[in-house]
Amino acid sequence: MNPKSNARVFDAGRQCVRNSFSDQEKSCSDVSSRACTAFPLRRANLLSRFFALLLPSLIASFPSRSAQREQDFEAARTRMVDQQLRARGIQDDRVLQIMRDVPRHLFVPEEQKAYAYEDKPLPIGFQQTISQPYIVALMTELLAPGPNDTVLEIGTGSGYQAAVLARVAKQVYSIEIVPALASQAAARLQQLGFANVSVIAGDGYKGWPEHAPFDHIIVTAAPPEIPPALIEQLKRGGRMVVPVGKQSKTQNLLVLEKSTTSDHIVGRKVIPVRFVPMVSEPAGKT
Ligand code: SAH
Repeated sequence: MNPKSNARVFDAGRQCVRNSFSDQEKSCSDVSSRACTAFPLRRANLLSRFFALLLPSLIASFPSRSAQREQDFEAARTRMVDQQLRARGIQDDRVLQIMRDVPRHLFVPEEQKAYAYEDKPLPIGFQQTISQPYIVALMTELLAPGPNDTVLEIGTGSGYQAAVLARVAKQVYSIEIVPALASQAAARLQQLGFANVSVIAGDGYKGWPEHAPFDHIIVTAAPPEIPPALIEQLKRGGRMVVPVGKQSKTQNLLVLEKSTTSDHIVGRKVIPVRFVPMVSEPAGKT
């Protein structure tokens, strides 16, 4: 509950009660007959005192509208975890807890907030989307970063996937090709207290050599083929989760693992998926 808005409701309540109290007294003192003085005034006083004491706590006990909305979102998140994630086979308790905790509605535009916990991707502007919750959970579970790991994400978008990863990994580096999305996501993540995410605007095909090699790499846009720079920037023993395929064809979500002793890569297909394309030029302007 927001203590500030509560304080405001409380003050307004007190003020309101105080006004009605003085009105009672005033109306009484305006009347010159004796009948007015004794009992009615005392009763009015008692009633006023009763309300003066009770009303503020009654008002304070009702959640403000925004607090109520937050509670509704929280309930929707719990349903999302049970019905969309656990029911479809996401098992990692850590991932389920993070999906329950991270407020997806704060990563989508105002007009999409009501749909934030539905089983679908949502538009975030610039012809891009925030991924479906199930896909975010699945990719996080497949990547499985540990608390000392660094992760490179390609395709920051809204910053939601980066926020989810930031709750398990040590540091997340995220690259977004649309500069406006990169700066919005960086500001949002900072405001929400995700201090271990660094976002830059740039082309993810080149990776982020200054911070390489990475324990894990996650790609949230689909390249037609696995970008060689990303393979190079993956640590030995590291894991990459990437949807690969042309837009017109079926894309497959792949998990690639680099050997601990060489640069040999072993890959497996997980499921067919549909992602926005990984491009070399930023997409649309709005
Ligand atoms: N992970 C995001 C969803 C990403 S949608 C989220 O949680 O909201 C895919 C994103 O990849 C888009 O924002 C798109 O602009 C970005 N993208 C596409 N090609 C890219 C590239 N070459 N480098 C970096 N980002 C890219």
